Amino acid sequence: MHTPPFDVIIAGCGPTGAMLAAELRLHDVRVLVLEQDTEPASFVRIVGLHIRSIELMAMRGLLDRLLDHGRRRPAAGFFAGIPKPAPEGLDTAHPYLLGIPQPVIVRLLEDHATGLGAQIRRGRAVTGLDQDDDGVTIELADGERLRSRYLVGCDGARSTVRKLLGVGFPGEPARADTLMGEMAVGVPQEEITATITALHDAPQRFWLRPFGAGIHSVVVPADGVGDRTRPPTLDDFRRQLHAIAGTDFGVHSPRWLSRFGDATRLAEQYRVGRVLLAGDAAHIHPPTGGQGLNLGIQDAANLGWKLAAQVHGRAPDTLLDTYHTERHPVAQDVLDNTRAQTELHSTEPGPRALRKLLTELMDIDAVNRRLIEKITAIDIRYDLGHGPDLLGRRLRDLDLKQSRLYDHLHHGRGLVLDRTEQLTTTGWSDRVDLIADPTTALDAPAVLLRPDGHIAWIGDDQHDLDNHLTRWFGTRTD
Ligand SMILES: Cc1cc2nc3c(=O)[nH]c(=O)nc-3n(C[C@H](O)[C@H](O)[C@H](O)COP(=O)(O)OP(=O)(O)OC[C@H]3O[C@@H](n4cnc5c(N)ncnc54)[C@H](O)[C@@H]3O)c2cc1C
Repeated sequence: MHTPPFDVIIAGCGPTGAMLAAELRLHDVRVLVLEQDTEPASFVRIVGLHIRSIELMAMRGLLDRLLDHGRRRPAAGFFAGIPKPAPEGLDTAHPYLLGIPQPVIVRLLEDHATGLGAQIRRGRAVTGLDQDDDGVTIELADGERLRSRYLVGCDGARSTVRKLLGVGFPGEPARADTLMGEMAVGVPQEEITATITALHDAPQRFWLRPFGAGIHSVVVPADGVGDRTRPPTLDDFRRQLHAIAGTDFGVHSPRWLSRFGDATRLAEQYRVGRVLLAGDAAHIHPPTGGQGLNLGIQDAANLGWKLAAQVHGRAPDTLLDTYHTERHPVAQDVLDNTRAQTELHSTEPGPRALRKLLTELMDIDAVNRRLIEKITAIDIRYDLGHGPDLLGRRLRDLDLKQSRLYDHLHHGRGLVLDRTEQLTTTGWSDRVDLIADPTTALDAPAVLLRPDGHIAWIGDDQHDLDNHLTRWFGTRTD
């Protein structure tokens, strides 16, 4: 049988596709990313990178580059925008939000992926797929056919790959659209501030803020649900601003205009044979709390090493299926928390009363902390069976004798962190590193970390460790 030129083809070079390409290249997987757009996205959506994603960037040695382009903010006030202080002593070395333009994240992840050897081809839209026992044939819009062993649809909310698979995408349709854009205004800032301050019952989804260089960022509710494949016009903005504020503030010269909806949907399956889904292709929800991009790159960190092991023929049975069993419930939880936040943004009397009550409850530190841990994804605990609370959780970055823990995770390998100085990874040392360090502040004798930084084993028994190394990394080789 002829070997396909690529092990994995990824449809879509957004944040999820770029991150996945890099994760696969860490394991020498031959990766091709196909992106339908000829140029990177031009509109600058500032997104918030939350703690778990910041940790992943630190784990892969990318954080310093991102910090150069972003602004740190306190890890506070995300849940339904309810203003509360950041809880003290969050279990992380990175207790902040990083506000950063989405195109910058994509560019840095793309550079990282291509630097590691991934190929990215732009202007290439995936339009068809056909899978068999050996691989997947992928058809492009220009009629070209490509072959790979696996295909991952990272092609966003309207995913062609998901539709071609016939995977159900149940949930709620959009109830309301929001217009968002950047443009110049024709009136002084004092007049804008005075008009907005005088508004009673302004909707939550409305702002007009200076962005710098004479440009304002404008967000305003749309008139109903529209066709999202068609960008809105400046007249749409003028009409809606007028309806809310009685003036359109003389807006003109838009830099970009876009529209987004509040549909909430989750793919029924993340894997069908040799084809997988990740990021917005698998789950969509309103941007409340700023979680979508974070969820996508965390999907990629969960999937990359598992798919690489499958490609190299050393994945234990069912390893690849743990991608769905671990990540589907995480997305379900994010969908639910955005549903709750959306209700809390309503101006109806019931939700308003609920918001008032929750605002009071969040003065209790444990409540505020719990919600921040949820939105920042540091509360995730994969169900890896019975065991101590740490099992299945991610481990924060720790000081070691002469280095930091995350510095040892740049290459996406497994890691045994051993305080007992008795354990060995012999048999798996081609895939798993060992650090023996009795000084580290770890609340366990030893842990096995997966390449995504989650704890797969806790203990001090070599035989038990060997069983878990087999379970997660395959049979011993040396
Ligand atoms: C206003 C707003 C604010 C937001 N703020 C935040 C925030 O603060 N924090 C956060 O985490 N998230 C935020 N999000 C969500 C975030 O932008 C998305 O979740 C994120 O872009 C998803 O990344 P992705 O790579 O999965 O999909 P996308 O970014 O949609 O990328 C998919 C890519 O696939 C390409 N593609 C599509 N079809 C094909 C095809 N057939 N063949 C080849 N290529 C194809 C597309 O061109 C695109 O480049 C926000 C969203 C909005 C609308």
